Amino acid sequence: MHFDLPRPVLRALSMLEAGGFSAYVVGGCVRDFVLGIPPHDYDICTAASPEEMKEIFQGERTIETGLKHGTLTVLMENEPLEITTFRLDGDYLDGRHPSSVIFTRKIEEDLSRRDFTVNAMAYSPREGICDPFGGREDCKKGVIRCVGEPERRFNEDALRILRALRFSARLGFPIADETAQAIHALKGNLDKISRERIAVELNGLLMGQSEKVTDAFWDVLLAVLPELSGADERTKKKSITMLCAAPRELPLLWAAFLGCCHGESEKCAGLAREALLSLKMPVRLMEDVHRLIAWRDSVPDEKNLQELLMHLGPEGLSGLLRLYHGEKPELQEKLQRLMESNACYSLRQLQVNGKDMAALGLKGPRIGETLNGLLLQVVRGELENEKAALLKRAAELAG
Ligand code: ATP
Ligand code: MG
Repeated sequence: MHFDLPRPVLRALSMLEAGGFSAYVVGGCVRDFVLGIPPHDYDICTAASPEEMKEIFQGERTIETGLKHGTLTVLMENEPLEITTFRLDGDYLDGRHPSSVIFTRKIEEDLSRRDFTVNAMAYSPREGICDPFGGREDCKKGVIRCVGEPERRFNEDALRILRALRFSARLGFPIADETAQAIHALKGNLDKISRERIAVELNGLLMGQSEKVTDAFWDVLLAVLPELSGADERTKKKSITMLCAAPRELPLLWAAFLGCCHGESEKCAGLAREALLSLKMPVRLMEDVHRLIAWRDSVPDEKNLQELLMHLGPEGLSGLLRLYHGEKPELQEKLQRLMESNACYSLRQLQVNGKDMAALGLKGPRIGETLNGLLLQVVRGELENEKAALLKRAAELAG
C-alpha cells in the first residue's frame, strides 16, 4: 500500500529517520487514505523525544507550546506540522485528562492509546502501514470500534463517547455492538466533559450523516442536552427527519434538530436558545437558530416576503425557505431581486433617522417606536421609503 504524502511531510519524516528515529504519519490522515478520502491535515509521530526533535529541527522555525506533552510544531516550507513523540497516557483520574504522559519508543504503544481502530493506524513510506488493531479491516467493514476494551476506554475519557458518534455520522459507519453498549452504559460520564468540547463534537455530528446515530443514541444526546427531554417519540422522529433533509449549515441543522417541539414556536425557540447557551455556542449562531425556529410556522409568499426579510435578515430568510419550504425557487428569486434592488428591510436603510424624529419633537422610546412603525409600513408596501413621505407619516403618528 502506497500513499502520496505532501513534500513538507516527506521531508519531516526523512529528517527524523536520518537522525535515527522511526517516524510516521498517524491518525485521521491514514484513515482517510485507507478510505480513499483526501486528508485535510497530517499528524506526524516519532520515536524521537521532545529534546531530540528540537535538535533535529533546530534549522527550522518551530513552536514549542505543546512540548511538555511531546508535541513540536515545525514550520516546514511554511506548512505548520505537528510532530509528537510516541506516548502512552498515564492514569486518567478525572475522566478526561491523563494525569501524566509517558514517552515511549514503540509505535504500537502509541497506537494503543488512540480511540478507535480506524484512527489507530500509522504509515511511513519506508515501513508501510502499521495497523496492530485491525483498522484496515474496520475501514473495509465500515465500523467504529474502540481500541481495547470499550468500558475502560470511555471511563478514561468520556469525550470518546461523542467522538464515536461524530465519526459514525461523518463516515456513515455504524458503531460496533460492544462499543455501542458501553456508550449507552457510560453516557453519564459526559457530565465531566466541558460544554465547549461537547459542542464541538455535536456540531461535527450534525454536519455528518446523523440520521441513524441520532436515532440509535438519542439517550446520549439527552444526557448532554436535557432540553430535549420534553420530546415524545413523534417529535424525536420529526427532528431526525428534518435533520436528515436540512442543508449542511450549522444554524439550519440546529434549527432542524431543536425546532420540532409541539406548541408555540416562540417557546420552542426559547428552549433551543437555552440549549445552545448551555453549550456556550457563539451568540450569532444562537440568535440565528432562535429566529429560524421562532418563524418556523410563517407562510412566506410574494406579499409578505419583505416583511419576513425585516424579521430574519437575508441569510435567515434564505435559510428559512430552504429549511422549511423545500427551496421555493420563486421566492428565493424574489428575495434575490429585493436584495439587488436595495429594498428596505432594516432601520439602517430607512431614509429618516432618530435625529429627524427628534426634530419633530419626539423623545425617548417614542423615537424608536415611530421608526419601527415607519419601517413596518415600508416593508408592507404601504409607504414609500422616501424622506418627505416618511416625515409626513411620522408627524401623523406623533399626532
Ligand atoms: P479529523 O479529520 O476530524 O481531524 P482525526 O482522526 O484527525 O479526525 P483528531 O481529533 O484531529 O481526529 O485527532 C487526531 C488523532 O488523535 C485521532 O485520529 C486519534 O488517533 C487520536 N485522538 C484524538 N482524540 C482522542 C481521544 N480523546 N482519545 C484517544 N485518541 C484520540
Ligand atoms: Mg485531525
